[in-house]
This record gives sequence, structure tokens and C-alpha cells, in this order.
Amino acid sequence: MALDEFGLIRQYFDWPPQHPATVRGVGDDAALLTQESSQQLVITTDTLLYQRHFDDHISPHDLGWKSLAVSLSDLAAMAATPTAYTLALSLPALDTAWLSGFSQGLREATMCYAVDLVGGDTTRGPLAITITAMGCVVPGQALLRSGAQVGDAVWVSGTLGDAALALALGPSAPPELRSRLDRPEPRVEAASTLRDRLHAGLDVSDGLSSDLQHMLAASGVGACVEWDQLPRSESFRQAAASDEVKQHCLLHGGDDYELLVSAPSGHDLQRACPGTRWTRIGRIESTPGLRLDWGQGRVEPLLPAAWNHFA
Ligand code: ADP
Ligand code: MG
Repeated sequence: MALDEFGLIRQYFDWPPQHPATVRGVGDDAALLTQESSQQLVITTDTLLYQRHFDDHISPHDLGWKSLAVSLSDLAAMAATPTAYTLALSLPALDTAWLSGFSQGLREATMCYAVDLVGGDTTRGPLAITITAMGCVVPGQALLRSGAQVGDAVWVSGTLGDAALALALGPSAPPELRSRLDRPEPRVEAASTLRDRLHAGLDVSDGLSSDLQHMLAASGVGACVEWDQLPRSESFRQAAASDEVKQHCLLHGGDDYELLVSAPSGHDLQRACPGTRWTRIGRIESTPGLRLDWGQGRVEPLLPAAWNHFA
């Protein structure tokens, strides 16, 4: 028998809740969640649109993982603890192979980050996935973009440019780079572990040059980052791409989903959070704007550029 909309939801997206706060999830007119009065609610929405944010290179399974991961990265960037999310799906057809892969990947991320899918909407239309994710934070503890102070050190988690390089290399990208593009791992734990040591932070989704500018503008400061310090993965170093392409990926590439933070200069984030790679890449300065120190005294303005120049 053909699946109708309700059968589809029951079969692919109705999972037992894991979180004690979920009173009613999928299946009623709206979700019902218990809200701790001592916490603030943190909410973020992201849409992934076919042919704009993803294409046929990503498997439905990885797409399911990534759809949730990018929203959890926004919650991580606020130092929030994720609790629940909703899923609005627009599908061109009832493709059970696609739905099965997508829902498995989504479920994997759901279990991994201990959140609940508490509702959503399902419509026929161009392939698009919208996730609204919710989390909580103790009042005053959210990590904002606006707290960077002159003299702070700028740190970044993980490595930069891998996802953008995978995109630039296309089908010839090595699997380690490809998985950085298709299966990002939001830094949820690292952000809350370090919260007390940070002045400001955000996640790198559009690329270092544009995302760091957002923090600088919100904080009313400038910064200088050091070219030599930008963290490159081993696969990135060894990938068969020109220096020019790699440079572009490191400075402007998107889809990293790493944390970019500003911390008082005395803190060693690597020691405070040994489970994640942390690299000090620069410093906050009073002169507005972003600069790149190439070494040997060569310092130039670093202006934002879109990653898709190489797509
Ligand atoms: P209504 O018509 O009352 O808005 P829907 O038919 O849209 O209800 O949805 C029925 C139930 O299924 C609701 O609880 C809704 O949150 C949930 N739901 C719909 N689509 C999805 C989806 N893609 N993922 C998870 N839950 C969904
Ligand atoms: Mg509805």
C-alpha cells in the first residue's frame, strides 16, 4: 500500500524521545516541552536547498546527518546545550530509498548528540530541508559575537579549509576531506567546556574571512591572523591542488563548522579542552578591520570572499 504523509512520518521520523524535557513529540498538533525556569531558550533555523547547499554528491544518509549537524553547530557557537529540533521537509516525490537513507543519517546525529526530533512539516515541492533546533543555556552564559576585547587571542578548533577543498576537488577529493564536507561534527561539548574562558565566539560556516569579520563588527574591534598558524589537516596538506586553491580554501572556504573564539590572552584553550585540537591564530586589536600577517613583516588587509569562486 502506498505511503501517505502520516504513514511517511510514522515510518521515518517518529522516534522514542530520549530527553526528559520532551512531554509530547511527533504526533500531536504541536510539541510540548518542559522548560527549566532557570535556563534561557536558544533557537536557530537553517534551510538546506538542493542545488544550492548540496547536490547529488552527498548520500541521503550523510545529508540527514549534516542537516542536523549544521544547526547544532549554531547552538554550539552559543555555548548552548541542544535539546530538541523540528524538521520541515519539502520533497519532490515519495522516494523511499532516499527517505530511508536520510532518516537513518538524521537519526544517527540525533542519537549522537542526545536530542529529540519533536515535530515538523512535510510537503511536496523542490527538495529542501529546514531544521529548527532548540537548546538551553544558563542566563548570561550564552557565547555572543559581541564580547571580543582588544588584547584577546583568537583561537579556532579543528582544521580549516577541508570542506571547501573537497568541494573544489569534486569527485577526486580524498575521503577524509569529503567526510569533512558531508559529515561535519559540531563542537557542542568543546564550547560548553570552554565557555568560562571565552569572551566571544561563533562557528565558521561561511569561511574564516567572513565569519571573523562578523565577530569583529559585533565587538567593535579589529584583528590580525597569522598565515603560518592557520591549522591545516594532513589530508589538506597532501591533497593535489594548487597553492592558490588551498590558500583560498583556508582563508575563505565555508562549511568548516569549527568554533572561532576570542579569549583573554592568558588562557591556553588546548590545555583546557584537550579532546579537541585548538590553535591560536591571531589577536584582537583596536584598529578596525581584519588583517593577515603573511610573515616577515608582510601584513595585508583580509577581505571576505565567497567560497564558491572555485565551485
Ligand atoms: P498539522 O496538520 O496539525 O500541522 P501535520 O500533518 O503537519 O499536522 O503533522 C502531524 C504531526 O507530525 C505533527 O506532530 C508534526 O509535528 C509531525 N510532523 C510532520 N512532518 C514531520 C517531519 N518531517 N518530521 C517530524 N515530524 C513531522
Ligand atoms: Mg503541519
